[in-house]
Amino acid sequence: MTSLPSRDKAVIWHPFTQMQTAPLPIPIVRGEGAMLYAEDGRTYIDAISSWWVNLHGHAHPYIAEKVSEQLRTLEHVIFADFTHRPAVELAERLLPILPSNQAKVFYSDNGSTAVEVALKMAFQYWHNTGQPRTKVIALEDAYHGDTFGAMAVGGRNAFTAPFVPFLFDVEYIPAPVAGREDEVLAKLDALLDENVAALIVEPLVQGSGGMVMYEPAILDELFRRVRTVGALVIADEVMTGFGRTGRLFASHYLTEKPDLMALSKGLTGGTMALGVTTCTGAIYEAFLSESKFKTLFHGHSFTANPLACTAALASLDLTLSPETAASMERIAARHAAFAAQIAGNPVVRNVRQRGTILAFDIHTGEQTSYFNSIRDTAYSFLRERGVLMRPLGNVLYILPPYCITDEQLNEVYERVIELLEMLEKSLVVKNE
Ligand SMILES: *Cc1c(COP(=O)(O)O)cnc(C)c1O
Repeated sequence: MTSLPSRDKAVIWHPFTQMQTAPLPIPIVRGEGAMLYAEDGRTYIDAISSWWVNLHGHAHPYIAEKVSEQLRTLEHVIFADFTHRPAVELAERLLPILPSNQAKVFYSDNGSTAVEVALKMAFQYWHNTGQPRTKVIALEDAYHGDTFGAMAVGGRNAFTAPFVPFLFDVEYIPAPVAGREDEVLAKLDALLDENVAALIVEPLVQGSGGMVMYEPAILDELFRRVRTVGALVIADEVMTGFGRTGRLFASHYLTEKPDLMALSKGLTGGTMALGVTTCTGAIYEAFLSESKFKTLFHGHSFTANPLACTAALASLDLTLSPETAASMERIAARHAAFAAQIAGNPVVRNVRQRGTILAFDIHTGEQTSYFNSIRDTAYSFLRERGVLMRPLGNVLYILPPYCITDEQLNEVYERVIELLEMLEKSLVVKNE
């Protein structure tokens, strides 16, 4: 019998993977808590929550139980002209925990589609109100997904290069990180006019852009300024949602409220694909009319899939439990202590943390980009030692499921220290 990796290689094309040079994929047979169990008996601590989706651990029995009950009751139903309890209940439970101006929930399948829907709502809002606007402002190095609209509002880089001719124009301002606030505000002011339809941001933490972090006060100021020209604000909380930043949503750190929000990833606790776009009553009302031309013509075959909504409800039960709240605080405190421990390391720069996300740059004097060799070195080094981390270029980050134990966290920290020691030695060698 041919091995699973070779069978995979014969038929499958993996995401974000150069198939010619990538090593064979690792077959995972089982997951439990923060652990992944491979076919060959090796284990991995999932220190990045499987691309930031997992909140409560793999194959969580409570979520599994709820989803399997739902699977035997109603697996799916068309969502135009029909509805079901899990979709209604999820919307009823989400709205009260989101910023208080959010009034309606629109379902889709993933983070990119949640962003697409937010953009379409924003553009059509201006169309429906008879004052079409075409300017969108986004942050440099933003990531909002891989579909065309989501790519268009993301930062332009090597990932989007082949598609640039097909992406709509967007105006960029730098992320308002500490020290650059005045420059960012000046650039924003220069872009503001009556044609600005929307500002889109990943609030407080830009994920794929390298875990770039900035403060709530400056984001509030950006929101206030774009509002002076009536523009809408879109908060893409696909990564930051559901407790990642230390509060339930990053938007809860703000006094200003977004007009539209995009959620996915942690929404189902990482169990299955589901996206949510929420909006204010004012946006929703701009689509109400006797005329069908004002309808939001958007939908997906699996809109509001009952299994996914059920997984989301079960995940919410767990997320809102006192145990999870305590765990988030425990992880944040452990991260802070580890941050202090590595801050003075000669290969470490710019240690930063927000809630359960800890990130820092590795600096060895090499050119830094996603494509540099430090990334591959660090990735392999940690993976061979049973820790799954996926550096973003020279940015190393830990973003664990909330159920990760202290022992598992220690193991992750220790492996990172080993990596730093190895890099430090190679630095010394290079300088001799
Ligand atoms: C991952 C991500 C997306 C895209 O979500 P997918 O489910 O991968 O399509 C959008 N926005 C942000 C901020 C993300 O981190």
